Amino acid sequence: MSREVAKVKITKRQEAKVQPTKVQPGKEAGTKKASRTQSRCPASGQCGGCRYIDVEYKKQLSLKQKMMEELLGRFGPVKPIVGMENPEHYRNKVHAVFHFDRKKGITSGIYEEGTHKVVSIDSCLLENEKADRIIVAIRNMLSSFKIRVYDEDTGYGLFRHVMVRTAHKTGQVMVILVCASPIFPSKNNFVKALLKQFPEISTVILNVNDKKTSMVLGTRNITLYGKGYIEDELCGKLYKLSPPSFYQINSVQTEKLYMKAMEYAGFSRKDVVIDAYCGIGTIGLTAADKVQKVIGVELNEDAIKDAVYNAKRNHIENADFYCNDAGRFMVNMAERGEHADVVFMDPPRSGSTEAFLDSVMKLAPRRLVYVSCGPDTLARDLEYLISKYKYEVREMTPYDLFPFTEHVEMVSLICKKNS
Ligand code: SAH
Repeated sequence: MSREVAKVKITKRQEAKVQPTKVQPGKEAGTKKASRTQSRCPASGQCGGCRYIDVEYKKQLSLKQKMMEELLGRFGPVKPIVGMENPEHYRNKVHAVFHFDRKKGITSGIYEEGTHKVVSIDSCLLENEKADRIIVAIRNMLSSFKIRVYDEDTGYGLFRHVMVRTAHKTGQVMVILVCASPIFPSKNNFVKALLKQFPEISTVILNVNDKKTSMVLGTRNITLYGKGYIEDELCGKLYKLSPPSFYQINSVQTEKLYMKAMEYAGFSRKDVVIDAYCGIGTIGLTAADKVQKVIGVELNEDAIKDAVYNAKRNHIENADFYCNDAGRFMVNMAERGEHADVVFMDPPRSGSTEAFLDSVMKLAPRRLVYVSCGPDTLARDLEYLISKYKYEVREMTPYDLFPFTEHVEMVSLICKKNS
């Protein structure tokens, strides 16, 4: 499944449906789930995004800690979960689907869990607040510009979605108007009116999606204003974010997580480092100036183009990026008898493959640092590794990248035994 499926709103990768975890709020003593009328979110129960919406933040953290210890504690020590100081409005990417209703007029929000009914949402506890305000402003502009909302059933109408991406460090803002056609009436005036309300917007993009699909973004992007991309800084490096680029949605926590991943790697200057499932290269480029060489591998061609661009943008000359299946790439490397000192792996929620893990072991790295957003598949992969090879899990640290949801990001250090 692709990243931009509209039904799921909260997850890191956006592509995977939420897997119910073992401990759920409401089933735990002391976390009785509030009824819908009592909930702090009016969309609670319909949206399906925040299982922990009415659970106190400290309690959320202790539930997640317990989940991780139960699931992964048998592999090695699970350090205390790293939470957020301000756990609200952390999402730097916000998406809204637009809908026309005879009674209510134009509404915007998200699909009700498991359906294509739109739940109207003006502000969300998780989402960047400015992004929410921009979406409401756009909704209010549509009728005065006589722009018709797209109807999923008939295929008539123009306006489908808005996506807003905000760069945490640089403050740049990208607005993507997703429409069924490239012909957007009075587009210059529309953009002018929007910029008048939000002069901080850096770029406005018209994305054309004329397919009957639950994917949010189509493949064609037309820049209406600005550069067509924004840049953000993460761990001291700049990254280009274009409409489809994958970028962690919680920048504050991602920086902390990456710092731990770097610490786990325990670099030395001569190290050859692999960044597998590298996306736009963020982990590898964070490591690059501490080591001899970085090799990144990723399946998505656009992401690799971004990674190459990002290396240049940051004047990094010791990083090479390859577009390939991570498993196949590692098998090839292992067959050529190559060696790596440190391997980072950050696979999607489905986890890695035995072929990938076998090949990593052939490269005999001193350290393997596994970043995971799917604790269940992490457990499966660790089980495979430690039962077959002379490696052990030294330490694991959970990070709360997704407050109010049940998701947890985990970084694990796996080393050769007796090293
Ligand atoms: N490390 C990056 C991206 C992690 S998301 C970051 O932190 O930003 C996981 C990435 O794995 C996605 O970019 C996805 O496109 C990529 N991916 C999925 N399956 C893959 C495969 N079989 N081989 C290589 N990359 C894959």
